[in-house]
Amino acid sequence: MLSEFDLIARYFTRPPRAGGPVRLGVGDDCALLAPPAGESLALSTDMLVEGRHFFAGADPFSLGHKALAVNLSDLAAMGARPLGFTLAFALPAADAGWLAPFSQGLLALADVHGIELVGGDTTRGPLNLCITVFGSVPDGQALRRDGAAASDDVWVSGTLGDARLALEALQGRRALEPARLAAAQVRLDRPEPRVALGHALRGVATAAIDVSDGLLGDLGHILSRSGVGAVIDADALPCGAALAHEAPDLRREFALNGGDDYELCFVAPAARRQAVLDAAHRAGVAVTRIGQLTQASGLRVTDRFGKALALHSRSFDHFATP
Ligand code: ADP
Ligand code: MG
Repeated sequence: MLSEFDLIARYFTRPPRAGGPVRLGVGDDCALLAPPAGESLALSTDMLVEGRHFFAGADPFSLGHKALAVNLSDLAAMGARPLGFTLAFALPAADAGWLAPFSQGLLALADVHGIELVGGDTTRGPLNLCITVFGSVPDGQALRRDGAAASDDVWVSGTLGDARLALEALQGRRALEPARLAAAQVRLDRPEPRVALGHALRGVATAAIDVSDGLLGDLGHILSRSGVGAVIDADALPCGAALAHEAPDLRREFALNGGDDYELCFVAPAARRQAVLDAAHRAGVAVTRIGQLTQASGLRVTDRFGKALALHSRSFDHFATP
């Protein structure tokens, strides 16, 4: 059995990259990071709990990827550039067969984004992963939730709903043929945080959020923080490749209230449509215009003809009473 310190040294310690923001990484009482001059630090923490956010026995490589991805997604939604991250976790045993693929999944995504694991905490206990990411954004350029103006367009990146479809299939609540399940499960297990898009939208989008709990619920946070309402065209929603084969009612429901999408929902003035498309092109991500903000509060969903649909936010709440 590995000791706590062997485990940290073997799986979570790498020499710092030259020229990066990390002055001191794993191994001291604190890590030292040097954010660029004139920028604010952007911090975010997300926790993944076994049995709640992922199935017991989940593939450790995917878990490593996802634990970091969901955190980077928050930096993306702020328009921040990632600098580094910490990992605090509890695990039942120092099992090399689990730790090796977990750290590979985690550090492979860190490499994609050119960032380092700079510290953490390791204890024994029921499997529970908590990552804190550190990023930076030039003062005044963060994509906050409270910057939206009535009449801005509403946009979403990528596609929605496949993660929810995979989740329900894996829970045995829905039949899905193996090829479609495999396609959808990639979206559930290996979300790709839209960091390049968030960065490209600085100075273009007026507000942004990442879609983790379902589009309607997450857009609702922009609306309440900005004091506006919205009309969303359910027929304009970009459905995931697997979800696109399902019936229209399910497509709408999962695209609007799916969860675990990790796309960006953002708003921008109608006069900046070309700038939005240019930003998306630079980031290599598709974006779709799905509606409009309104002076009147509330969130309405319509079909493509503007007819109101009875679809409401069913955002996930850990403490909701059933
Ligand atoms: P302390 O007692 O000062 O909190 P620890 O003994 O918990 O320090 O950790 C020793 C060093 O290893 C610290 O630099 C800490 O940041 C790092 N560390 C601990 N756990 C992890 C981990 N899971 N991933 C990366 N670094 C870690
Ligand atoms: Mg400690």
